[in-house]
Amino acid sequence: MNAAQPKTLRGVGASPGIVIGRALVVSQSPVRVPYRPLAAEEVEREMARFRRALDAAREDLNKAKVELGPELADYAYIIEAHLGILGDKMISQRGEELIRSQGINAEWALGLAEAEAKSVFENVKDDYIRSRAADVEYVAGQVLKHLAGNSGIELAAIREKVVVVAHDLSPAETTQMDLGWIMGFVTDMGGPTSHTAIMAQAKAVPAVLGLERVSQEVKSGDFIIVDGSAGMVIVNPDEETLHDYRDKQEAYELYAQEILAQAHLPTNTTDGRRLEVGANIELAEEVATALTYGAEGVGLFRTEFLYVSQKTMPTEQELLANFKAVAQRLDGRPVNIRTLDIGGDKFASSVELAPEINPALGLRAIRYCLKEQGLFRTQLRAILRASAYGKVRVMFPLISGVGELLQARKFLDQVKQELADQGQPFDPKMKVGIMIEVPSAVAVADLLAQHADFFSIGTNDLIQYSLAIDRVNEYVAHLYQPLHPAVLRMIRQVVDAGHAAGIPVAMCGEMAGDARSAPLLLGLGLDSLSMNPLAIPRVKQVLRLASAREWSGLARNALGFATAAEVSRFMDQELGARFSEVLAARVPLPAETG
Ligand code: PEP
Ligand code: MG
Repeated sequence: MNAAQPKTLRGVGASPGIVIGRALVVSQSPVRVPYRPLAAEEVEREMARFRRALDAAREDLNKAKVELGPELADYAYIIEAHLGILGDKMISQRGEELIRSQGINAEWALGLAEAEAKSVFENVKDDYIRSRAADVEYVAGQVLKHLAGNSGIELAAIREKVVVVAHDLSPAETTQMDLGWIMGFVTDMGGPTSHTAIMAQAKAVPAVLGLERVSQEVKSGDFIIVDGSAGMVIVNPDEETLHDYRDKQEAYELYAQEILAQAHLPTNTTDGRRLEVGANIELAEEVATALTYGAEGVGLFRTEFLYVSQKTMPTEQELLANFKAVAQRLDGRPVNIRTLDIGGDKFASSVELAPEINPALGLRAIRYCLKEQGLFRTQLRAILRASAYGKVRVMFPLISGVGELLQARKFLDQVKQELADQGQPFDPKMKVGIMIEVPSAVAVADLLAQHADFFSIGTNDLIQYSLAIDRVNEYVAHLYQPLHPAVLRMIRQVVDAGHAAGIPVAMCGEMAGDARSAPLLLGLGLDSLSMNPLAIPRVKQVLRLASAREWSGLARNALGFATAAEVSRFMDQELGARFSEVLAARVPLPAETG
């Protein structure tokens, strides 16, 4: 196909499906770029590129200074020092001089200027001044990031069918793109539950993330195969591979159509136990896709999108219009609207978040809402008002204990009173659920159940917090184990606590959409599962294969193992031996590979 050597890269299959197309590299990891001599006519352009990178780095530093917040104001001097180095002739002037006099690329010139400046500091006796060499290195790194890291491609302007290759994609970047043009996503960073993965699944765009160096290995225009099911990217494939993949792609599409045809049937086990299967969505527009794929409701409506996609805070009216559209489109089916879960790995452009050393453990989700009471009230008002138009429930994220839940409920009661006083219609009996995604909530699930109408287990965060594995860190992605005995025990404990108190227990973390884990979850006693819409047909198909009694037996046995690997092997054996035909789908889904 291509004169260049084929290359296979492995990462995390974050959204299933196969695409074959041209790559567009939109950003690269900040790495040292090799020496490149310039042709005479390139020198001016290179100097201008260097100046633009200096300006961009300066802008970043100024922005960081403004955003420091009062508690860090004392440290503004560090940023000032960095600005000073950036403006100093040792870096800016010397860099330009080197580009011109030696005819070399900006990155190389920057490296030389940096080395010279560092040696000035390193040769000083004074410890403090000597340690400034580290600041020079930091500043040079910032400039380098702008030289190497940004292709300058306008994401919103992409108007050709491409596979987007990036170092990383922020929620704001993914939302800028018109996904109609994007065939697939391929990134260095990110894991199976990162925002990019969730967006890619929601939009049925195949994605492989966590590839570490793909933004360096692939060039714009390279022909690539993205196998989001197997977590693999093949760059410049040979004819034979291409042929194989065209067959695989066709088989995948056929298979997807086949299971889609049965997606609307209810999920009954062979002995008649019914399990509700819902969809996780982020946009009102996704309700249609969710229904096509057989969703019986929306088990998780992530409401961050409105805060991410615009610069100003959404008003009550805007939120209401959005929530009402979802409720109405669901036509009597239930929707769990989750209150704002901002912070951690989720950022918003309209919400100011102070920089934190450990954002995942910081002011996020319900904690943020309980602090920013105006924002919380506005959202609760909109959710309550939407409850007049359908089966709306509210769900609080990241509840860590009873105190927090009671506080949130108090706000809800106040808002209800306000609306009643104003004569605004709402459902006074609107159900109040909580996400169980912090280990402390598992430990006190029996106490929480006294104050909640339902539980929904958020395994994405529960696994992160209980196994101490950052959900977006590709270096520890292999340790992110949904089948870890600790996770299974916690699920069981939450189900038992919920049922003892007479409330239903759902799951809406990505684990619920894994066709291999679903039988285990049914066996552990969950009442409903909510997942990305694309996963619904397959999960329904698998759950129908046996009786609830058999799935409970499977869960009981799975709980007897000591490691995730043993549980995984056991599940493969059990499911593989008995249901090989269905489970040996022609194209494996992501969680069933690797
Ligand atoms: C979870 O944590 O499992 C979850 C569903 O919420 P999110 O992925 O939005 O944090
Ligand atoms: Mg969560």
